[in-house]
Amino acid sequence: MSTGHDSNTRKAQGYLQRFRAKPVGHFIDGEWRTGTSGGTFETRTPIDGSLLAEVSAGDERDVDRAARAAERAFGAWRALPGRERRELLHAIADAIEAKGEEIALVESMDTGQPIRFMAAAAKRGAENFRFFADKAPEARNGSSLPAAEHMNYTLRQPIGPVGVITPWNTPFMLATWKIAPALAAGCTVVHKPAEWSPLSACLLAEICAEAGLPPGVLNTVHGFGETAGKAVTEHEAIKAVAFVGESATGSLIMAQGAATLKRVHFELGGKNPVVVFDDADLERALDAVTFMIFSLNGERCTSSSRLLIQDTIEQAFLDRLVKRVARIRVGHPLDPETEIGPLIHPDHVRKVLSYFAAAADQGVTIRAGGRLASAGAGYVEPTILADATNDTRVAREEIFGPVLTVIPFADEAEALALANDTRYGLAGYLWTRDTGRALRFAQALDAGMVWVNSENNRHLPAPFGGMKASGIGRDGGEYSFDFYMETKNICVAYDLHRVPSLGR
Ligand code: NAD
Repeated sequence: MSTGHDSNTRKAQGYLQRFRAKPVGHFIDGEWRTGTSGGTFETRTPIDGSLLAEVSAGDERDVDRAARAAERAFGAWRALPGRERRELLHAIADAIEAKGEEIALVESMDTGQPIRFMAAAAKRGAENFRFFADKAPEARNGSSLPAAEHMNYTLRQPIGPVGVITPWNTPFMLATWKIAPALAAGCTVVHKPAEWSPLSACLLAEICAEAGLPPGVLNTVHGFGETAGKAVTEHEAIKAVAFVGESATGSLIMAQGAATLKRVHFELGGKNPVVVFDDADLERALDAVTFMIFSLNGERCTSSSRLLIQDTIEQAFLDRLVKRVARIRVGHPLDPETEIGPLIHPDHVRKVLSYFAAAADQGVTIRAGGRLASAGAGYVEPTILADATNDTRVAREEIFGPVLTVIPFADEAEALALANDTRYGLAGYLWTRDTGRALRFAQALDAGMVWVNSENNRHLPAPFGGMKASGIGRDGGEYSFDFYMETKNICVAYDLHRVPSLGR
């Protein structure tokens, strides 16, 4: 009997064939090469734990090769006229679109993310390249700041080779989100993808090379964080590190980069509140609350993992939420109908499951889910933890799975206090029809991004990033160029002023 994922599985197996023959190599200076140490690690699909590929485990020697290649390539790449960089980045976007199906299927197999979301993520990867392609010709623009006796003007110059270190959730999209602006700015890149989902980074490197990106401009070194990742953050030729991952890893990277004074940009964890007032459009709020925690397996930095609900509507809203969640389709990620797939790795499954015991220990009620799903060992049921207080572990720690913690509040002041009582500050979502309250609340929320009456909706010129333990710096539009470029001021005299003289 055929099932909903059969034809996608056949296609995916075809695309994955290329990774099976020998260890997946690093891409350095335009060539695929196995690692210097000869060591490898396995990447397995979370669908059933079967082996997808052996991947070269890079060490500091591989990173050194990649960083030196990026250093050599930097001079010519930065000198390339912006409009030529624009054409090249558009060619990369075209190639991503042409390979959209392959990227999405490989990514679903490697991460367990449902194909319905990975197809969109591949498309978004192409959009990231197009958006920054169009900005490339103007990346260097600055301002003119005339004074009485001098003309000051600023310009931006690419900072140099940069390191990009990405996590395992939506790895392709996140890699493009960092690499596209770096290339548009004129930087060269050493990319260290996550060890739990390394395969789509190979497709990106291949696509870029085939589109004509010169050797050394994008280098990909696989491996573990403590070895390959660490070496990227410590290498003297790497001038800046753009990192997406856990807050604790951000602290390590900051320390590792201190000796070489690395510029860092961090997109870290979150425990984002969605605040629903009783005057909200509850139908739309229900859709958004459900989507923002259960899409992408809940393995999403901007997921709204804490539902703060006004006590007047708490039970009615919860009842509807529970009914909705019971209908969420958990299953094979390559089935187009699937809404939640298997979590990335058995270690992560164990971590997520451990929170159900922690919730019970602290008197939190499991209203839905709270256990493995019938689909198999890697699949966790969408879970609602109700009657929580904000001091419980499930309200404070980033679970990074399909788990929603529900906390009631009485009024606006209490809602704000609860929303801000967290070490994180990435995103916040607010549902109310009261415009004054929406404005007050949004301004007072400690979060880098606030959505009012909306789920996470991205506009690429808008700043993306977090406060507190959720990050340092912003991405998006000009904000990305501020990170990947140096601003230089040039001051030229009109030859009118008196130059101070000594020893005349
Ligand atoms: P992680 O921090 O464990 O790993 C991320 C990357 O860092 C991996 O490539 C890893 O190999 C590397 N790394 C680990 N230790 C390192 C070290 N000492 N030096 C250099 N590199 C090192 O994170 P993860 O588990 O892969 O990803 C999940 C986390 O990412 C969650 O906390 C999530 O919220 C966060 N995230 C944040 C955003 C955002 O935009 N704020 C987006 C996606 C994910």
